[in-house]
Amino acid sequence: MKHMKTISIAALLSGMIIPATNQISALPLLQNDTPTPFSFETWRAGQQANEPDFHVQSIDANTLVIRQSLRDTFEAPFMYLIFGMDKAVLIDTGVKSTSLRRVIDREIDIWLSANQKSSIELIVMHSHGHGDHVGNDYAFKSRPNTIVVGHKPEEVAKFFSIADWPTDLASLELGGRSITVIPTPGHHPSHVMVHDPMNDILFSGDMIYPGKLYFQCAKADTYMQSLNRIIEYAEKEDIKWLLGGHIELPSNSNTAFPFNQKSRENEHQLALPVDILNRIRIALNDMSDELVVKEFQDFTLFPHPATPQGKQPPNWCNE
Ligand SMILES: [Zn+2]
Repeated sequence: MKHMKTISIAALLSGMIIPATNQISALPLLQNDTPTPFSFETWRAGQQANEPDFHVQSIDANTLVIRQSLRDTFEAPFMYLIFGMDKAVLIDTGVKSTSLRRVIDREIDIWLSANQKSSIELIVMHSHGHGDHVGNDYAFKSRPNTIVVGHKPEEVAKFFSIADWPTDLASLELGGRSITVIPTPGHHPSHVMVHDPMNDILFSGDMIYPGKLYFQCAKADTYMQSLNRIIEYAEKEDIKWLLGGHIELPSNSNTAFPFNQKSRENEHQLALPVDILNRIRIALNDMSDELVVKEFQDFTLFPHPATPQGKQPPNWCNE
């Protein structure tokens, strides 16, 4: 059974996809040290025991990035709050906390007052349904003028009117700006990326971020199909940067910070240049014979068995 699965993954990686080399020139080959257009201060990384539960920074006046404190949770997920003139969208709600709702309410109040408005509808959606991205949904379910999207693929597809999951896309008009929701299953069945055309960004969730890119061994083909679709989309839409759900790498090493470490030095920058997509595809292609856990610059491919108990990486997909 496992052997047959390996063969089917190998066939997929080596045969069915477009050769990576044909695609490289189409995406801008930004180098890792290319300055980002985002003027983020260094993200708080748990050095102070009393740091606030959430760190809010802005990409622009209508696009905010919120990070949960490492002191609160070693996952320290990133969330994104996007304002149009009629609707706001919150991507992810992090790990359960007593204060996210208050932080989001405060940011919405600041935005309303700056834009001389009295209210705005809030849509709470998710990059995917894992617990570190949906943990504060409870606090938004009773919020006035707010919709909380479900976590299952069929619920996400229904809300955004995605007719054919995962190959269709959906655009959501927010008033003066829109976002596009792109199904990208692999890490999780309901995983999506969100395109913000105003900033040439893909909010890439847990499929792509500077850290361990987790997918079940048996889901490698699903992950690769999503990667191929997103590469095609990124070329067409001139995506420049990917902002994901976590930072797990230092800036000066390809080895992730220790699991559960609550204070870090020298984290990798959050934004990854779009050529990361091709680099991940090449790395997966090079694994066409055998899926293994392996470190690369800016990311670690982390295929893992559905039940890893009793098995050890890096070769645990092939046992
Ligand atoms: Zn996560």
